Amino acid sequence: MYYRSFNDEMRERFGTKVYKLSLDGGFSCPNRDGTAGTRGCIFCREGSGDFSEPLCGDISAQIERARSRVEKKNPGGRYMAYFQSYTNTYASPERLRELYLPVVMRDDIAALSIATRPDCLGEDVLGVLEELAAIKPLMVEMGLQTVHEKSAQYIRRGYPLKTYDDAVAALSSRGVETVAHMIIGLPGESHEMITATALHIARSGADGIKFHMLHVLSGTDLASEYEQGRISLMELDEYIDVLEECIRHIRRDMTVHRLTGDGNKQYLLAPMWSSDKKRVLNTIMKRFRDDGLVQGEKYTPTEE
Ligand code: SF4
Repeated sequence: MYYRSFNDEMRERFGTKVYKLSLDGGFSCPNRDGTAGTRGCIFCREGSGDFSEPLCGDISAQIERARSRVEKKNPGGRYMAYFQSYTNTYASPERLRELYLPVVMRDDIAALSIATRPDCLGEDVLGVLEELAAIKPLMVEMGLQTVHEKSAQYIRRGYPLKTYDDAVAALSSRGVETVAHMIIGLPGESHEMITATALHIARSGADGIKFHMLHVLSGTDLASEYEQGRISLMELDEYIDVLEECIRHIRRDMTVHRLTGDGNKQYLLAPMWSSDKKRVLNTIMKRFRDDGLVQGEKYTPTEE
């Protein structure tokens, strides 16, 4: 069995485990404030960052609080500052520089990860990201979710595939690493369609990928779809079948940052099997071993 995990990559690069500190930069999202849309993505409850450190105090205080929760497990270790909630480049370049520069200058911060949308990466923002990447490794995460236009419209992603592809190229050319998120189990997508999304992410150059199962959270428009019986969700076995096929179709050098999503249990309506994260991960690992999974064994750089 072989797949390249986030921990594998961190040990290779830094010689130690690197813990993520989820932080909140106090951003909003153009898909909610009327710039790209008003209702947000159909599955999004609170900017997909339910676990980040609540916004209070300056960013150093947030880092200290987040560190104190994991320090016992990581004495003297290194950390990745992870800005997950909402759209973390949706501000002026001055505001971004003011927020992120002190973070990358800290000795305990090994790397920075910023989640954003590819339509929030103008030239001036790219310039700031390039400056940060010259100081510490910088990963920019983007929620592509699917390459299929019909699904993108259904989830109200709010930008075309080309915007994502152009963003990956622009970031890579500036020394910024990229991580794409994709959802397994969007309504109307066959297994082949889902695998096609993973293959496109690999071919278009992302350094890493995060897999999420489709979660239904209360208070979202997806919850109404679910409650009206308009969508069905995958069982765990089917999810693993598709996940394995996606991993076989990505490049061997890519890092798999996540194998499942982390729906906040407080709001999770379905699938309930996903709430037992330990069991889910154990079941996935057992299947990977039993099936002799090998990342990249079906990857081809172009259509054959
Ligand atoms: S882009 Fe992100 S924060 Fe904005 S609505 Fe979609 S999932 Fe939520």
